[in-house]
Amino acid sequence: MKRRTLLQTLAVIGVFPLIPACWRTPVIGEAASPIIPLKKSRKEWRELLSPKPYQILFEEATERPESSNLVYEDRAGTFICAACYLPLFESTHKYESWTGWPSFTQPIAGHVATKIDFSMIWPRTEYHCMRCGGHQGHVFSDGPPPRGERWCNNGFALKFVPKEEPLPALRN
Ligand SMILES: [Zn+2]
Repeated sequence: MKRRTLLQTLAVIGVFPLIPACWRTPVIGEAASPIIPLKKSRKEWRELLSPKPYQILFEEATERPESSNLVYEDRAGTFICAACYLPLFESTHKYESWTGWPSFTQPIAGHVATKIDFSMIWPRTEYHCMRCGGHQGHVFSDGPPPRGERWCNNGFALKFVPKEEPLPALRN
């Protein structure tokens, strides 16, 4: 049995407590969301987005650390999904994690959804935009108190809107 298959089987049968704590990520509560999913084909998104955001959002690529200007963005404002423009994070929850990726202590409630990702063999918690399904990043359990969460986001999957500017209309 391949290692990935074994881990997936363990996940299905609920043997996660046997996996070392450092491999586990917090279980994020996903309350009922008022967000209506946006149905758009990969082809439509590819036409709307430049290659880098498209590859991250819809092919689950990861940008190189330090490659996004948003790592250093420290103005007050809102971080929105680069695909559909749904607000995902507030600047008040951004912090310097020294990882080279924009990091947040929590998302806007109900605006992201999570799933377990086995692409690196060990399980990680992937999260994506609740509206368009675009991949944003992974959440880890080594963040600052009180929540202890580190929402590690690809900068190219977000756009920043300063507080002084109006949020753009959601893309349809
Ligand atoms: Zn989106």
